[in-house]
Amino acid sequence: MCGIVGIQAQSSVASELYDSLIHLQHRGQDAAGIITYDFRMHKEKGLGLVRDIFNENNMNLLSGNVGIGHTRYPTHGGFGHGEIQPFWTEVPYGVALGHNGNLVNYKELAEEITGREKRYLNTTSDTEVLLHMFATALGQNGSAKSDKAFFEQICGAVKSVFDRTSGSFSVVAAIVGKGLIAFRDPHGIRPLSRGERKSDNGSVDHIFSSETTMFHSLEFEPKGNVEPGEVYYVSESGKVFSKKLVSDEFTPCIFEYVYFSRPDTMMNDVSVYRSRLRMGQNLAKRWIEKHPDVLPDIVIPAPSTANTAALSLAYELGVRYSEGLYKNPFIGRTFIMPGQAERKKSIRHKLVPQEIEIRDKKVMIVDDSIVRGNTSRQIVRIVKGMGAKEVYFVTACPPVKNPCFYGVDMPTRSELIAAQKSVDEIRTYIGVDILLYQEIPDLVEAVTRKGDHNIDRPCMACLDGWYVSGNVDEEKMNELETMRLNDRNGE
Ligand code: SF4
Repeated sequence: MCGIVGIQAQSSVASELYDSLIHLQHRGQDAAGIITYDFRMHKEKGLGLVRDIFNENNMNLLSGNVGIGHTRYPTHGGFGHGEIQPFWTEVPYGVALGHNGNLVNYKELAEEITGREKRYLNTTSDTEVLLHMFATALGQNGSAKSDKAFFEQICGAVKSVFDRTSGSFSVVAAIVGKGLIAFRDPHGIRPLSRGERKSDNGSVDHIFSSETTMFHSLEFEPKGNVEPGEVYYVSESGKVFSKKLVSDEFTPCIFEYVYFSRPDTMMNDVSVYRSRLRMGQNLAKRWIEKHPDVLPDIVIPAPSTANTAALSLAYELGVRYSEGLYKNPFIGRTFIMPGQAERKKSIRHKLVPQEIEIRDKKVMIVDDSIVRGNTSRQIVRIVKGMGAKEVYFVTACPPVKNPCFYGVDMPTRSELIAAQKSVDEIRTYIGVDILLYQEIPDLVEAVTRKGDHNIDRPCMACLDGWYVSGNVDEEKMNELETMRLNDRNGE
């Protein structure tokens, strides 16, 4: 999972790209980068958090009214400096590109590019492959003079990317002397929002971003999404062109609503916050149906993604909501940190129990999901250690049984607890009296009940094993899982 943003404005965009990356930090804490251009490209990238990479000195060098930014959370490719986005190439024009997603046919494409096309790949990142495909097709599609003709040239290049790729990709790109581009894969798996800001003189600035989280502070008005299979081009003179190049089933990632997105985001025209409230409502219904005689004394979320679902669940059950586990805000989210050792270390470190809220009570813990099971087990131990009388565990997400090959760094099947154990075995493993998972139809209902959206069905491959790109058989799964393990081990 990564965060991307592109801005075209009437004045320098560097500081607004920086602010945007701060608002996208939750989507990737491994690295970040910004590329702007005026008469030439300006780049700054680094490992770590946005606030640690950029400073007054390097920001001053990022001149230009068009630029893109990226926060990195590695799903494919290594963890080194060379893998930090945005990537760029000199030919044609000078193209910088940032990507959120994952190409399922990376291996085949990399072989084509280095073999038949005789290009050199400097990284194992699928973004580099995407950039080469786009840039090569753009260079071959002519040399348009007008903005409109150049848009047709872009459409040809993006269409050829659509034709060759399988997987997920939301993309922002800046082309020197030409302007800003955004496009999204034909299934719209990863998000891409759009906004505009009018100035007093009537000119309009444009933003494309993974989430709408920065729109309010930068005074951009939300204008919906880049639709699946659609491409946008904002020329240097501010003309806007868009075209839907491919129509396919719209299957956005359901895990964005469960875990990744910030709750204040409008994603695919659905409020993430409201969808999480509805997840809690649906869990309450199932709890009452399955355990009519059991009522907890208190509902405690595993902070902080689960707070919203826990709030509505507690409300529906008529039970007190308590922040009985305090999260140290200065420690990153464990799921997002690469490496199991770090994860194991940090759970006790980041969650502090309040004994007064827990001792001698029947405690219902609510979490967004159970992935490996280790985090849930440790949270339960913390709560039991504080003297809970009984512990129930409720999760807003159904069992995660399959890896994600569309841009989320899910573990492999051998590491996913729900791929290895039954629900009752998981209950025993994490050590609770009752374990309740959200059911898939209830989760889909929670996400799609409201909002002026056009979602056909969300992607839930990690839950139900149905990969929308259609080419993930057992052999492909093994290949992708091996690739992921190799990436993690630095091989
Ligand atoms: Fe999202 Fe799961 Fe689909 Fe990956 S497989 S895109 S995490 S819903």
